[in-house]
Amino acid sequence: MTGLTLSHISKQYKDSDRPAVRDISLDVGCDEFLVLLGPSGCGKTTLLRIISGLVRPSEGQVYIDGQDVTALEPQQRGIGMVFQNYALYPHMSIRKNLTFALEVAHMKRKERTQAVEKVSGILDIGRHLGKKPHMLSGGERQRVAMGRAMAGECKLYLFDEPLSNLDDGLRTRLRPEILSLFHRLHVPFVYVTHDQVDAMTMATRVAVMKNGTIEQLGTPQQIYDQPASLFVASFVGSPKINLIPAAVQVRQGRAVLDCGAFQLDLPQYQAALLPRDGQQVIAGIRPEDLLVSRTGRDLQPIRCVLDRYENLGGRLLLVGDFHGHALRVMAPLSVRAKVGESLELFLDKSKVHLFDAESQARL
Ligand code: ADP
Ligand code: MG
Repeated sequence: MTGLTLSHISKQYKDSDRPAVRDISLDVGCDEFLVLLGPSGCGKTTLLRIISGLVRPSEGQVYIDGQDVTALEPQQRGIGMVFQNYALYPHMSIRKNLTFALEVAHMKRKERTQAVEKVSGILDIGRHLGKKPHMLSGGERQRVAMGRAMAGECKLYLFDEPLSNLDDGLRTRLRPEILSLFHRLHVPFVYVTHDQVDAMTMATRVAVMKNGTIEQLGTPQQIYDQPASLFVASFVGSPKINLIPAAVQVRQGRAVLDCGAFQLDLPQYQAALLPRDGQQVIAGIRPEDLLVSRTGRDLQPIRCVLDRYENLGGRLLLVGDFHGHALRVMAPLSVRAKVGESLELFLDKSKVHLFDAESQARL
């Protein structure tokens, strides 16, 4: 296939007691924007640097456009890279920053000029070409860093948290710019971030990483609607998913969940629960699946006591106390609820996620 293929990649750093990346295999097609998403230390940068050639894997192969590049140097791989710290050369003009690597690669002057025209048009940095990096804002500098990566003809682009050092407004503005670059270039993008908003807004597929492995690989929608594990369910989604422990009870051929204060009968999970009489599971309930008023769906009433609320702009986040568990609920601003008073909620039962308490895998 064309694009990027990783085959059984592992990395053990010499001075580390556990592998940073463990047996990762992955295909990224030419029209794919793959986001590697996970908490700090899970191995995202290591994996990206292995793809770039800056780090050698302990095991496994990297293929770009079907060619085994595992033994090649970074500059022989035809990739463009953008890092968190947009390391521009401070003493060079923006134009020189854009063309320097092209000169080193012996690109002809005319072609270099065309390449600069192309990327400065796309990224809207044409008026800065004569300036030095210190004269530009953080966002402009990050655009130049992207432009530098885009100026060559690359088979693959790698990004390592390029927006992490920027303020919220800039991140929101740059995300669509990165996406429009992706749509023009028709080569794979691999983008590392710990920010779920980056992942959910830009990715065609997301690989959620934990402890050096891929916990789940899927579209943003799949990751959100069908989280494969407790970890994925808790990492993706803001405000965070509610997790409520429950015991499976099978009576007369019917399985119900004993959640302490109420019993939950979930038709969609009958087959998974019947062989688990007495076992512990964890029910995951997203804050938007707890409703403050009854609508026509399959609802389970739940009572809690309102602890506090936060105005999130267009909506309210209510935090209730449910028998010692904090329960987060998204509600419209029009809701009138008083702290300390009882609050009746309606759980959309079709949206409950169940996980095995021991293995933490989705049932
Ligand atoms: P992430 O980018 O997801 O934060 P990294 O790939 O940077 O994760 O790190 C993964 C693990 O490998 C961490 O435990 C980190 O401490 C370790 N690590 C990263 N780089 C090195 C290195 N050069 N030498 C030893 N250990 C490293
Ligand atoms: Mg990193």
